[in-house]
Amino acid sequence: MVASAEKVNLLDLDRDAMRSWFESMDEKPFRADQVLKWLYHHGVKDFDQMSNLARSLRGKLETQAEVYLPEVEHSHLSADGTSKWIFRLRGGNSIEAVFIPEKNRGTLCVSSQVGCALDCSFCSTARQGFNRNLSTGEIIGQVWLATHLLALNPATQHHRITNVVMMGMGEPLLNLKELVPALKLMMDDRSYGLSKRRVTVSTSGLVPAMDRLRELVDVALAVSLHAPNDELRSELVPINEKYPIAELMDACRRWVGVGDRKRHVMFEYVMLDGVNDKLEHARQLASLLSGFPGKVNLIPFNPFPGSGYRRSNQQTIDRFIQVLQQKRIVATCRQTRGDDIDAACGQLAGQVNDRSKRVLKFMQPRFGERT
Ligand code: SAH
Repeated sequence: MVASAEKVNLLDLDRDAMRSWFESMDEKPFRADQVLKWLYHHGVKDFDQMSNLARSLRGKLETQAEVYLPEVEHSHLSADGTSKWIFRLRGGNSIEAVFIPEKNRGTLCVSSQVGCALDCSFCSTARQGFNRNLSTGEIIGQVWLATHLLALNPATQHHRITNVVMMGMGEPLLNLKELVPALKLMMDDRSYGLSKRRVTVSTSGLVPAMDRLRELVDVALAVSLHAPNDELRSELVPINEKYPIAELMDACRRWVGVGDRKRHVMFEYVMLDGVNDKLEHARQLASLLSGFPGKVNLIPFNPFPGSGYRRSNQQTIDRFIQVLQQKRIVATCRQTRGDDIDAACGQLAGQVNDRSKRVLKFMQPRFGERT
């Protein structure tokens, strides 16, 4: 019997990788399509139930492969229908995923890392430090588990995941290698088959990785802007020191591209009382984004103990939106969901065994160097 650690986790493999893997096992590559459908269309992870595979192949899978999923540590259902799950990973950390049902869609918010190495001043995940990147299987496994868990609970069995946003714990673009195959699995017809407009990667603005992502996979992009000038943005989103707003906007222009690609960018902007919510900020933001094919999504700040920030009041948010709209910038405000179970943006914390001292040391030259 092969030890579990030596087995291939089939959830780590996108279609291409799984086809190659079957070939390396002297099997036909089309077996990949069959297995993907069992795993993701039918939610079957037991090889014995994969009835269109020969018994000998099932035996081979049993010894060479596994379907490893994190364990469900907690499930919470909010009064507003939002579900939050805490998933325990091998090695002791845990991560969170959130499902938000709306009238015509259901959005799953997925984590990409255990904790986060970036230090955005208003985000509770940042306080947890950083431990490690999630594997492809741990990323797509959140979609698998959420689909399964929603179906199990009579109160949520009518809910469907129609959209995925990489807005849980972590900075997805610091984990491109594991992220991209997971994104492909979200969009592949043999697995979840979501359209590319319904899979969104949110980034704090890592410019080279934004360019790389665009080359690797076609998804929707959200950029955490949060401030209209460098001084304030560096205070809130320290990665701005390395990739200031002008460079970030250039990367956004490259993302949108030319010709008939018709891409756009969603700019996220957390509303912090008295910090970045003044009319002056709205005017600066409007001129920064003037003529750009994108829209602004304001996120009322979600408090957590010791954050030191307060949420802007509704009147301020409404006026901010008005200023943007007067300047022809499309702006909406994200409804706060699931805050009674700490499932709102920036409240996801999981259980992170912090190793960020090591990581910071490793990252220092990258933060320090200016290109
Ligand atoms: N690292 C990625 C994903 C982060 S979470 C990124 O930075 O984009 C998704 C969004 O929630 C980001 O825009 C993030 O800045 C925002 N956010 C973080 N903490 C928040 C809080 N306490 N209240 C409201 N939004 C928050």
